[in-house]
Amino acid sequence: MKMMNQKKLKIGYKEYEIVRKDEVIDLPNECYGKIDYDNEIIEISTKYSQNQRNATFLHEMFHGIFAKLDRDDLRNDEVVVNQLATELYMIIKENPHIFSMKDI
Ligand SMILES: [Zn+2]
Repeated sequence: MKMMNQKKLKIGYKEYEIVRKDEVIDLPNECYGKIDYDNEIIEISTKYSQNQRNATFLHEMFHGIFAKLDRDDLRNDEVVVNQLATELYMIIKENPHIFSMKDI
């Protein structure tokens, strides 16, 4: 039986490992999280709240989606990535029933 790997995020042919760290540095700054496209790693800083970590995870996920789509213009647009992550996170949080599919 195949087990779901809870610590991986598959985006296309890439399988990003999700790593929690005490401190995430994207030189020269400390940050909430970061994505390494080549080594397929998403780092999430544990310094911040669970809400912040979840939003950060979605933020890095959108970077990964745009990388997969070869949309480097969007991948590098921190404003767009941030807005998508924040809006999606709020919708998921405020509408927990939608993913049960019973209401669609
Ligand atoms: Zn970013």
